[in-house]
Amino acid sequence: MPMELKRGNICAVCGGQLKDDRIEIFYEQGPNSFPAFFEAVPARVCQECGERWFSLKTVRRLETSMESKMKPISTMEIPVYSLEAV
Ligand SMILES: [Zn+2]
Repeated sequence: MPMELKRGNICAVCGGQLKDDRIEIFYEQGPNSFPAFFEAVPARVCQECGERWFSLKTVRRLETSMESKMKPISTMEIPVYSLEAV
């Protein structure tokens, strides 16, 4: 789940400075849902530890995009690995 930023410009994990950015993320609704890939997601990124914080509005937009009939701009194949035989 994305980390939701309550307020302020300071990382709640390490106290570092946050910077507004647009990032790419895998997002899934819950533990049993299939993840989707999102581009150009507004986020505040910690300059120290790299933690990404999202506004409540952005989290809602991620959720509604997946629930609605909004068409993905593309689809991707992802590799699947098994560590069974390793
Ligand atoms: Zn941080």
